[in-house]
Formats: sequence, structure tokens, C-alpha cells
Amino acid sequence: MNSKVIVLDVERRLAAASAAEMALRATLSAAPVPMILLDLDQRPLLFSQGWFDQAVTSRASQLLNHHPLFLSPEFTQTARRCQETRAAETCRVEIAAAPEGQPRWFSFEFNAWPSDGSPYSRLIAVGRDVTEAVLAARETEAARQSLAEQNARFDAALNNMPHGLCMFDAEKRLILCNAAYRRLYALPDRLLEPGTTLGDIFDHRRSVGTGPKSFSAFSVATVEAALNGAAATSDVELTNGRTIRITHNPIATGGYVATHEDITEALRATAQIEFLAFRDPLTGLPNRAAFQRAYDDAVAAAERGGEMFGLIMIDVDHFKDVNDTLGHDAGDALLKGLAGQLKRAFRHGDTVARLGGDEFAIVLRDLKSEADMIRPIELLQGLLRTPIEHAGQSFTICASIGAAAHGDPDDDPTHLLKNADVALYQAKYDGRNRSVVFRPAMRTEVEKRVELLREVRLAIGQGEFELFYQPVVDVAANAVAGFEALMRWRHPEQGVLPPAAFMAAFEDNDLSLQLGEVAFEGALGQMRAWLDQGVEFGRVAINISSAQFRTGRLAEEIADKLERWNVPADRLTIEVTENVYMGWGAEVVSDTVKRLHATGVLIALDDFGTGYASLANLRQFPIDRLKIDKSFVQNSQDDAIVRAVINLGSSMGMKVVAEGVERPDQLATLTRYGCDQVQGYHFAKPMPATEVAGFIDAFSVRGRG
Ligand code: C2E
Ligand code: CA
Ligand code: CA
Repeated sequence: MNSKVIVLDVERRLAAASAAEMALRATLSAAPVPMILLDLDQRPLLFSQGWFDQAVTSRASQLLNHHPLFLSPEFTQTARRCQETRAAETCRVEIAAAPEGQPRWFSFEFNAWPSDGSPYSRLIAVGRDVTEAVLAARETEAARQSLAEQNARFDAALNNMPHGLCMFDAEKRLILCNAAYRRLYALPDRLLEPGTTLGDIFDHRRSVGTGPKSFSAFSVATVEAALNGAAATSDVELTNGRTIRITHNPIATGGYVATHEDITEALRATAQIEFLAFRDPLTGLPNRAAFQRAYDDAVAAAERGGEMFGLIMIDVDHFKDVNDTLGHDAGDALLKGLAGQLKRAFRHGDTVARLGGDEFAIVLRDLKSEADMIRPIELLQGLLRTPIEHAGQSFTICASIGAAAHGDPDDDPTHLLKNADVALYQAKYDGRNRSVVFRPAMRTEVEKRVELLREVRLAIGQGEFELFYQPVVDVAANAVAGFEALMRWRHPEQGVLPPAAFMAAFEDNDLSLQLGEVAFEGALGQMRAWLDQGVEFGRVAINISSAQFRTGRLAEEIADKLERWNVPADRLTIEVTENVYMGWGAEVVSDTVKRLHATGVLIALDDFGTGYASLANLRQFPIDRLKIDKSFVQNSQDDAIVRAVINLGSSMGMKVVAEGVERPDQLATLTRYGCDQVQGYHFAKPMPATEVAGFIDAFSVRGRG
């Protein structure tokens, strides 16, 4: 179509227009707002001045009548709707941008003209540039959307965090909380609404077991502190056993935000690590490291505040023998049993520790007096008397106990460990199975003893120990029945020393074994010599210490030695004190004694009457001789006892030997009561081996004469 044709068409339409339309056209075309007159095919007929002023469409595109606006569905459909309804209709249309420009938006309001519905009616559209509003709305929408996205991200973060989080306002009303918080305290949906009071949440928690175990002033204080603007942390135990670490932080708008971390597992792990590092796995007691910590704490408290504290050291008597003879299971059972008894005897706050092996120690804090320490020791000694059952066997624990207390502020508390050790040493020295409380004098005694043991060890190496022999006389025959071999120390400076001067050596496991070896080798060697020389010495009795029994090999060793020295077994008697029978490993003792007895070695029960054994107890052992202790023999008030023992012994088929006979009247009394054999200064003191042959000769002459 050329422009000429278009002009003709417009003129044709103008001619058809009524006068009213002419007037409308005149007004419309001059209008400063964007307006457009459309025919009923929605084709533009006329544009206002404002249309071009605001460049809704360009003049050229208008003339060509093909601007996309007029073809856009919003525009054409709205126009058509207006045409049908004859009511005002609006639409918003985006006007595509020029290549480099911004798009614009116009809203168009369509109205039918004239409004009476005449067939030649037109549509008038009034346009309004709404670009700004659209852009503003877009921005708001974008902002809304990004906020929503941010919220979603925030929610995801909040609800996926492992810790509980909640926020309360200054009136302690809930602002928000996360999923972990709700799980932690088993909160129902209704309590998650903002505005729920802290009180309501607590009420619910209490009812479902997620409330605090004790409503500690501390955790209340932390809430208050946070409300007052200070951050605070507290660990709260719940009634369901969990422990929650709560950190409150004030927020600028008032109120606080709190994180709730379930630290139960972490605590358990820490406790487990503590347990492994500071516990003895066998007994479950604190170990040496834990003991050291408790001890250091006690020392610090004593130095700081003058607190009185106590220390007890415990050593199981002959524990090694239990392990060796009854097995490690029995040893473990004993240690566990002892641990249990210790726990019962001492207060909860005392540190009862196993230092290792058969050593235990207890730190007692905050003592009022030494009596506070002695009381549980007595309790323990009572408990120790109850037997421990293991694998069908029952046995009792014997233990040596050393105790020391620090109370004098002038003393150095760090000495307590040493003091308790000294007391323990003293308890062992006094014969074990007892308790001793440290006294300052003990320290020098112990030091002396340690020195003595050192000297004895050297002296054994130097061959300074030898046996003296004391005759045993048969009362009826008035003849030498044999000799008791007694140890002497030929000290280079102090001369010949009796066992009283080195008794500690017999208490020491190692040294008593060495001395036992000296005694056997010496006595058997001597007997061999006498046999070769034709000296009629009868029997020789050798004293045996408990350590020698506990090796479990004594019977074999004696048999070997007898064979090696070629000495008949019926020339040997061994003397055993009743305490050896009664101590640990009685089974081993019984076994050894039976085997020895079977070979022909005689068994004498030494020092009878001084220990705890009753004859009934001893019945199980093969005993050939009963030696009445010299304390009975020498005290005439004990005559009745002496007579009873002699009667008892003979009724059980044992020969009775009386020791310590010093005077003729004592011999006369014993003879009258029917005592079999006697031994004492009345006949002779223990003498060197070289004098024995001469003594036998002299005695037989005197006896005969
Ligand atoms: P024990 O086995 O009871 O020996 C008897 C003690 O009484 C000996 O003391 C002896 O010298 C002493 N004695 C004998 N007759 C009289 C007397 O009429 N009056 C007085 N007051 N005492 C008399 P000793 O030789 O000093 O030995 C003391 C203890 O040492 C022994 O007591 C024994 O238990 C122990 N012992 C001695 N030698 C050995 C040994 O080789 N091995 C072991 N394990 N112990 C030994
Ligand atoms: Ca003896
Ligand atoms: Ca004796």
C-alpha cells in the first residue's frame, strides 16, 4: 500500500464520521495524554498529541499501523472485551524497547464511544505510562523473593544444625527455635508458636522428662545474666540423664539467643578417656597416676589451708605365692576382692587406688584427727576376715598396712608418702598381717634395718654365717638324742652374734632363702663329716623359714641335698613354726611336709603355744614333735599348760620336746609330767660344730656315771 491509498482511506472514514465524532476527534487529537481512537476491528484511527509526546509508538509505526502493540493479545483482547461489555476494561502492555533502550509499560483503559451502543461506535483507549510502577513492583517482588530465599536458607541452616537454638524476647517469650531444640526437649508443635512463654516450655519439659534434674540456681542465673546483657554458659543435667551445655547470648533487640548442645556423649567419651588413663583395668580402682593426682591435691590443700589428710599403704602378704601356687586367676580374684573390701571400708570421697601389683594406697582428705584414719582401717581389717570365694575355694587375704597422717602445720606434707612407706615396712617387719601407724621414731628404726640387711647380704657373701649346735636330750634314756642347728653370725668386729641381731634377715624373703641355703649346706656337710668320723650325733634339727616353704620346691631340694651329701633322711628333723602352717599357701606347706615326712624326715612343730594354731587345726599335717616354747617352760605359773600340752601331744602320738630348760627343778617338773625330750642351757648352750664330738663323749660318760 502506498501513502496515497492510506490518506484516501482516512478521508473515507472521516467522511463517514458524524459531527460528534468530528468534535471527539478534534479534542482527542489535541489531548496531552496518550489517547487513541480505534475502530471496531481494533485498528487505530487517531492518536492524541500526548501519544506521540510520550512516544508510546512512533508516528511512522502508527501510520504503518503495524506496531506490535496493536497486535499484542493483551491489547486486542481487552479492546474486544470492552466492545462486548461496553464497560471500561484495562490492560497493561509492555512496549518493546528500542534496541538500546529500556522496555516501557503502559496501562490502557478502554471505553466504548458513544456509550449508547450505536453501530458506528469507536473505542477510546487512554494510556498511562506505568513503567516506574512496574519496575518498582518488580523490585519489590525480587526483594521479596530474595528474602524468601534467604529465609529458606536460614531455616535450612537453623534446622540442620546439630545444636538446639532458641531465641526469647525480654519477656521470656519464644521468638524462634530450631528442630534440634524441639527434639532435645521433645516439644510438641503447639509450643513452637512464637510467643510461647519459657514457663510453658519448662512445664512441658518437666512432664516429659526433659526438664533439668535440679533447677540449679546457676542455670537460672545464666538466663537472667543474658537478659541483663551478659553472655553465660552452664551445663544442665536433665532428668532423662542427658547433659546439655547451654550458652546464652544477649541480643541487641532485648532478650537472648541460646544454643543447647547435648554434651552427654562428649562427657561420656571424656569420662571413658579419664577412666582409661586413670583407672586400673583389673579392679576398676584409680591407678597410680590418679593416686598421684589425689596425693598432690591433698598436699596442696594441706599447704594452703592446713587441711589434715592421711595416707594408707597396703601390701598383700605373700601375694606372689598366691599367684605361683593357686594361679593367676586366684591372684586376680584376690585383688578384685580386696578392691571391693577397700571400697566398703573407706568413705566415698577417699581415693582408694591400686598402685600396681599387690600394692594399694588410700588418700583420706579432711581428717579431724588421726582417729578418722584409724577407724576405716579397723573396719577393713574386719572385712579382710571374710573369706573370698574363687573357683570353689575360699581364702582370706592377709595384708600389711602402713598409715600416716599429716596434721602438724610445721611438718612438711610431702614427707607423708615416705612416712606411710616406713609404717608399712614396720608392719611387715612386725610379722605382716597387721597395721602400723607411723611414728617419727620408726624412721630411724627402718633406716637401721635397711642398713642391717645390706650388711647381712655382704656377710653371707663373705661366709660369715655358720651353725651352732645345741643338744637335745632324751629324758628317759638320759642320752643325747640329737642337736638343733642354730644360725650364728661371726661378725668381724662384734664377735659371734645370735639371730636376735639379724632377725630382719629372716623376715626378708631373699635373705632368708640365702640363709636357709647356708643352713642346709652347713648342717648336711657337717653331718656327713660326723658320719665319716663316727660321731654319734643322733638327729640334727634345722629351722625352716616360711619363705623356704613358699618356693614350693622345698621337699625336692631337701631330697636332692640328702642324696648329694649322702645323709640318710632319718638323720634330719625340720622345725616349722605354727605361723608357717597358718599363713598363705598352707596347701603348699601341707604338701611339702607330707612329702618330706614320707621320706623319713621328722617334722617338729616349733614354738608351740605362741601362735594362733590349735592342735585341731594342725591335725591335717604329719607332726612328729611338739616343741613347747621356752616361755611356758620357764614360767612356773604355766605348769598346767605345759602338762596339758605334754598329755595332748602324747595322746596324738607326738613326742614332746621342752625348750629353755635352764634349771634342775624345771627338768624335774618336765620329767614328772612325762616330757620326752628336753633342750636348754641346763645341758648346754648352742656350741660350734667343733665342740660337738667332745660334748657327746663327756655327756655319755656323765650320763653313764
Ligand atoms: P628357736 O628355734 O626357738 O631356737 C631356740 C632358741 O632358744 C635358740 O635361740 C636357743 O639358743 C635358745 N635357747 C635354748 N636353750 C635356752 C635356754 O635354756 N634359755 C634361753 N634363754 N634360751 C635358750 P637362738 O639361737 O638365739 O635362735 C633364735 C631363733 O632364731 C630360733 O628360735 C629360730 O627361730 C631362729 N633361728 C635360728 N637359726 C635359724 C635358722 O637356721 N633358720 C631359721 N629359719 N631360723 C633360725
Ligand atoms: Ca627351733
Ligand atoms: Ca623354739
